Amino acid sequence: MNLELSEEQTAVRQLAKDFVDREVAPNVIAWDRAEEVDRSLVKKLGEVGFLGLTVDEEYGGSGGDHLAYCLVTEELGRGDSSVRGIVSVSLGLVAKTIAYWGSEEQKRQWLPGLTSGAYVGCFGLTEPGTGSDAGNLTTRAVRDGDDYVVNGTKMFITNGTWADVVLLFARSTDAPGHKGVSAFLVPTDTPGLTRRPIHGKLGLRGQATAELVLEDVRVPASAMLAPEGKGFSVAMSALAKGRMSVAAGCVGIAQAALDVAVKYATEREQFGKTIAHHQLVQELISDIAVDVDAARLLTWRVADLVDRGQPFATASSQAKLFASEAAVRAANNALQVFGGYGYIDEYPAGKLLRDARVMTLYEGTSQIQKLLIGRALTGVSAF
Ligand code: FAD
Repeated sequence: MNLELSEEQTAVRQLAKDFVDREVAPNVIAWDRAEEVDRSLVKKLGEVGFLGLTVDEEYGGSGGDHLAYCLVTEELGRGDSSVRGIVSVSLGLVAKTIAYWGSEEQKRQWLPGLTSGAYVGCFGLTEPGTGSDAGNLTTRAVRDGDDYVVNGTKMFITNGTWADVVLLFARSTDAPGHKGVSAFLVPTDTPGLTRRPIHGKLGLRGQATAELVLEDVRVPASAMLAPEGKGFSVAMSALAKGRMSVAAGCVGIAQAALDVAVKYATEREQFGKTIAHHQLVQELISDIAVDVDAARLLTWRVADLVDRGQPFATASSQAKLFASEAAVRAANNALQVFGGYGYIDEYPAGKLLRDARVMTLYEGTSQIQKLLIGRALTGVSAF
């Protein structure tokens, strides 16, 4: 693996750094307190090409490889995980999945809007009763002539209140377990689909998380993504790449934790010298630094495997598992460096910790990642 970035990768990383410093950093506290990122940012993310990374230019994408995508994701995560999540879901889980599984017509219908930021996408897998055990979801899609009629509830859907289209997973046949699940592309203004914002989140407070309720929602059969019964494969393939994106976002959080901890430690004085002079403060900082590097290397390895067309799902689970736990540790260590000020939201460490915490929960909890890795190593499913 060549750890040196190409000219193109270096340029896109710099573009993302500048974007975050200009468009995101000045607003982070306000968005967190208001529980809403300014929606006009989506258009700006589209204009700069971040919503079209890895997608073919033919469909409005901005091309680039998966390492470039991870570099941008890391920078967005460094700036604000709520912003990073918008891209990870609208591009990572929805547009990229349409690009991979979609018919020509579906690609032309959705990709130009999603990659330009004219549309926002959301990913509707989790339900109130089925989270980790997503293959047993209960949302039903019943065939009626040329349509399907969908009923069910989706829970914790990122971008939910903002989205123009939901990549929805529903049971369309009586085949047992995940074999009966199909994927559909459902415009969110379809009659019968209502959205309830979920407030009071510990972190990612700027993100538009929602519950989606579907009551007799009629979708044409042509809205099915991939063949009937393949929905769970669609979801798992999206999440395998999605976990790489979450890992990259976690590297961004950990890097931000390192940056703010070093800055604060070299400014704050106690016992007549900056706290950087105290060995135990240096321990906190060096622990963060090791977590940043290890998480980044695991994440880049996934991107490298994807870009070379190699199997990557287990590496992606490993990166997501390690990077999410590392981001929590790093943010917690940074908070410790800030002392009491770390507990106040005018200072950055507390938000980093709140935002990091969910990374060990979504797109498969840490326990689920361990089961996926364990299954790959032993050949035994322990779910
Ligand atoms: P449960 O599955 O009930 O798990 C509870 C606990 O039991 C966990 O500790 C889990 O690790 C453990 N557990 C469960 N099964 C096992 C097992 N077999 N072995 C060992 N331990 C086990 N979902 C979407 O579809 N789209 C989204 O955009 C989305 N965004 C989200 C945004 C936020 C802010 C949050 C909080 C969640 C989001 N989710 C989304 C849902 C998320 O993916 C689920 O919350 C997650 O998969 C866990 O499901 P659960 O919450 O039902 O927990």
